[in-house]
Amino acid sequence: MLPPDILIIGAGAVGLASALELTRRGARVTLLDRGRSGAESTWAGGGILSPLLPWNYSPAVNALSEYSRQLFPEWCARQEKLAGLDAEYQVSGMLVLPPFAETDAFAWCKRNGWRCELRDSAVFLPAIETQTALWLPDVAQARNPRLAQVLRAAALAAGVNIVEMAAVTRLSVSDGRIHGVQTTQGDFTAAAVVVAAGAWSGGLPGIDALSERVFPVRGQMLLFKLPPELLSESLPTIVLHNGKYLIPRRDGHVLAGSTLEAAGFDKSTTDAARLELLAFAGGILPTLTEQVLIQQWSGLRPGSPDNLPLISPHPEYTNLYFNCGHFRYGVTMAPGSAMVLADLVEGKSPAISAAPYAFPGCMAATGEINKPQLTLD
Ligand SMILES: Cc1cc2nc3c(=O)[nH]c(=O)nc-3n(C[C@H](O)[C@H](O)[C@H](O)COP(=O)(O)OP(=O)(O)OC[C@H]3O[C@@H](n4cnc5c(N)ncnc54)[C@H](O)[C@@H]3O)c2cc1C
Repeated sequence: MLPPDILIIGAGAVGLASALELTRRGARVTLLDRGRSGAESTWAGGGILSPLLPWNYSPAVNALSEYSRQLFPEWCARQEKLAGLDAEYQVSGMLVLPPFAETDAFAWCKRNGWRCELRDSAVFLPAIETQTALWLPDVAQARNPRLAQVLRAAALAAGVNIVEMAAVTRLSVSDGRIHGVQTTQGDFTAAAVVVAAGAWSGGLPGIDALSERVFPVRGQMLLFKLPPELLSESLPTIVLHNGKYLIPRRDGHVLAGSTLEAAGFDKSTTDAARLELLAFAGGILPTLTEQVLIQQWSGLRPGSPDNLPLISPHPEYTNLYFNCGHFRYGVTMAPGSAMVLADLVEGKSPAISAAPYAFPGCMAATGEINKPQLTLD
């Protein structure tokens, strides 16, 4: 049974998607954020709506991202309609330049119903030397800052109470339950609490530290601007090469990303990252130079071992839930994670097994996954 009222801590893509789904199912939801909604990792990300090379990830990561990927178009359209805004969702495809594991890629795509073919890169990238590339036409993208606006406006339209500039300073815990949260804007109580505080989820005061399960991983990004007609001829699709990517937007903006850095909660940008990303971007599309660079930023991904999010009740506090640690794919996974979370809160079985995303204390019971290894790619 759904608790009548629910507090969600954190209004990024994951918290907003959770709020929308729980509200749709009939709960009264209050969403707390210490800043503005969607202004952290959700704003900073690239918005590619799938793992970069899915055949390199575990079945558990792919189960959630595939579930989400299938939900995404309809889910996004529903939120856009509620919001009256456009998230710039588009199936723009992705070209992977060599090296890539051709056999693994074809086998994975065949198993998972993805289209995939080898193509001459010159068809897409006339400005650089021709290579045999892997073309994945079904990869989609959304424009993160627009998606964040859509989700915020949709949540407001759906009746979610969004309280911004309210930092949660403590969770009040006793007798195996959360009784409420203290914030810089006063105390809030509810029948259930969801932690969706992104990279900060591991350290909320009042609950056991989860800093080894969810931790910040900095990512820096560059933004360029070209005339849209020039961009559609010279970069018609997302391009991925050696872990870095260029993402073209409809209006001529191009993102180049991203770094993966263990820098704690430091959100500075660095000259080293700017030079590294400039060299990468110019190597794929030579017109991308310092002259057309308009912005550099960094964001803190909610890092997690093996990219596995935590979508789970707490093993001790019966009315506390987590939806966090989505690392590199929190935008991709937002709709699916919200469904899994809402099912768990409602006491239903999710459409995909939730065992791999269970809280460490709940995992042993499932016996389904091994202790995750920490990797940064
Ligand atoms: C450079 C970069 C590129 C990326 N590219 C992609 C991509 O292409 N595709 C993809 O799917 N994902 C991508 N990601 C990852 C994706 O952005 C994240 O996984 C996702 O945004 C996580 O969403 P979230 O809601 O969990 O966290 P966030 O968006 O960080 O939201 C967490 C919220 O919690 C709030 N909060 C924190 N502490 C408190 C507190 N004490 N009280 C109240 N509120 C609090 C914060 O203010 C914040 O608004 C990228 C990330 C980066 C940085």
